[in-house]
Amino acid sequence: MSLLSDATAASSPGVADHLRQADAHTAHNYDPLPVVIAAAEGAWVTDVAGNRYLDCLSAYSAVNFGHRNERVLAAARAQLDRVTLTSRAFGHDQLGPFCAELAELVGKQLVLPMNTGAEAVESAIKVARKWGYQVKGVPNGRATIIVADGNFHGRTTTIISFSDDPDARADFGPYTPGFRTVPYGDATALAEAIDEHTVAVLLEPVQGEAGVILPPLGYLGLVRELCTRENVLFIADEIQSGLARTGRTLACEHYDVVPDMYLLGKALGGGVVPVSAVVADYDVLGVLRPGQHGSTFGGNPLACAVGRAVVAMLGTGEYQHRARQLGEHLHRELDALVSRGVTAVRCLGLWAGVDIDATLGTGREVCRRLLKHGVLAKETHGATIRLAPPLVVERDELSWAVGALHAVLTDMTSATRT
Ligand SMILES: *Cc1c(COP(=O)(O)O)cnc(C)c1O
Repeated sequence: MSLLSDATAASSPGVADHLRQADAHTAHNYDPLPVVIAAAEGAWVTDVAGNRYLDCLSAYSAVNFGHRNERVLAAARAQLDRVTLTSRAFGHDQLGPFCAELAELVGKQLVLPMNTGAEAVESAIKVARKWGYQVKGVPNGRATIIVADGNFHGRTTTIISFSDDPDARADFGPYTPGFRTVPYGDATALAEAIDEHTVAVLLEPVQGEAGVILPPLGYLGLVRELCTRENVLFIADEIQSGLARTGRTLACEHYDVVPDMYLLGKALGGGVVPVSAVVADYDVLGVLRPGQHGSTFGGNPLACAVGRAVVAMLGTGEYQHRARQLGEHLHRELDALVSRGVTAVRCLGLWAGVDIDATLGTGREVCRRLLKHGVLAKETHGATIRLAPPLVVERDELSWAVGALHAVLTDMTSATRT
């Protein structure tokens, strides 16, 4: 798909020019909606023509605390005036505090700071394999990691090797071996898949890209029990679900499970810089020795200063509280659309997967129409859209956005009837 096809729909000529230039010189690995953002604050963005939109995606939850959050910006500005990058060849004064504060927030001992989410996942795979060989005693080269179908863990060659999304995988082989896929939510299938070579189970506690798929009741508890019994590491990818989005610091808390490794990213960077982390206890993350893993930018002073501001904000509990309260409101309002163009709604905190009646059109079409109402949203796949506004959004703004969705669905319903 080309941006140009959408550009004709864009009302302002300035927007069309921007879209045309992006189309000519940007690799076409995305198919963005025809909006060109020039500024943002809180839950709102403004395009180059001065139109305002309510951001109901939050950069896939990387902007949980709102665009240009004052506290995050203040931390970043202060750090810009001190030191921004040292590499890990040397120490710096933000690293220790960041790791200590994040470890305490999450309830683990050690933090491995990286940059992107995919790097955190890759790091966890390496740690789990090394743990398997050195601690569990798996014969060298035989380690397997069990993943769930419908997963999304990132875009590297190894990670797409265990994706079941044809777009993510096709023509990118040969694929990295050592992964086994089981149905998400099926503890029996997981039990059958574990053998003496299994080193880890890697799961999103709530599958975000799959459409905000919530785990069946009791499932994550059974995963935890199986992993403990079989001496297998439970790795929770909380890159999208974590850091207040669901109304708790970590989505796992809703299900009373404590995994062996947490993967964090997205919101950890406060919407300013990419910051990710693997967080685990010493008996797991301690298998890494100097020279065995690293990153030029991982744990840099600017990232750590921003991450510290994020951890401090999470420490107050106010964002988790907001996500719970606003999420209840959003859930109620979305439920009222069921059988009025919506077939199902799944919510946890301020995070919703909304299944649109597929006879009305695609999720993409809904999002394209929402854009004209001033609402930015993104389909996950097929006829499902995800709503994840910044946690600073106001209650009446949510009602207004659901009203826009209702209007769009009403229009699409009358369009299919004529
Ligand atoms: C976004 C995401 C990733 C990958 O993060 P990047 O920063 O895009 O590499 C991994 N896991 C989950 C669950 C995600 O939502």
